[in-house]
Amino acid sequence: MGIVWTGMAQPYGTAWPGLWAGSVDKRPAEFGPSRLIGGAEPSISPADEPPSERQGRMPPVLMYHSVEEYREDPHLVTVTPARFLSQMRWLESRGLRGVAVSELLAAKAAGRHRRMVGLTFDDGYADFVWQVLPVLTQMGFTATVFVVAGEIGGSNSWDDGPRKPLMTADQLRAVAASGVEIASHGVQHLALPQLAYDELVWQLTESRSLLEDLLQRPVRGYAYPYGHVTPREVRAVRAGGYDYGCAIWTSGVDRHALARTYIGERDNGLRMRAKFVRHRIRQRNLP
Ligand SMILES: [Zn+2]
Repeated sequence: MGIVWTGMAQPYGTAWPGLWAGSVDKRPAEFGPSRLIGGAEPSISPADEPPSERQGRMPPVLMYHSVEEYREDPHLVTVTPARFLSQMRWLESRGLRGVAVSELLAAKAAGRHRRMVGLTFDDGYADFVWQVLPVLTQMGFTATVFVVAGEIGGSNSWDDGPRKPLMTADQLRAVAASGVEIASHGVQHLALPQLAYDELVWQLTESRSLLEDLLQRPVRGYAYPYGHVTPREVRAVRAGGYDYGCAIWTSGVDRHALARTYIGERDNGLRMRAKFVRHRIRQRNLP
């Protein structure tokens, strides 16, 4: 069985208790409605997946955006610093270490990923520098930050929520030098499935070359803006030389469309535990 992309109408089949299904969390509006793939459920065949990707189970990859105090957060993309600290302590207390996605995949390939959890931060918010990095450093964790390469030093102009500053070039260099992985989130924050093919390719190639020029190090990963992805985007990211891609709602088997677990302000230890259990059950049920 190939990987099935699920529309939000029925994510992960009927048993989905709902990360964003109302009972647990409102689904962040940043990720948009189910226009994702027009109600279809495109899939890629097993032949599209390297055999090694069908074996083994992925640890959870957590998805954050901004960590900062806030007054309003209509798209549920912000976690307060106190809550973030308690979530990282929860990981630590369970003997888990937060790592960058590249490190997680390398560890998985070597069979030493059992105590690891992927940590990702989308969009490249400047609050990463003062709210996230000190906590990660203190705990010996790393993370991956997905940067909108054409908006460096700007703000989240693509959404209609409160403006949040994005990291500058200097901040990105410093963050990368501290051991955090910097990866791509496009040149602009655009949903790729709506783009013509040459525009899609340009978003992939130009963003990587901008970031590699800036950081003088390879950029290996791509996160699909809004989590919107179809098999066309997965093939383009793979063909474009990216080592992996981060999505949101996929089955999480293909390294170019890794599923991630949304973590929000409401996620205390109990809810974190529930999300980890759910992840484990889904992984166990994979073909
Ligand atoms: Zn984003």
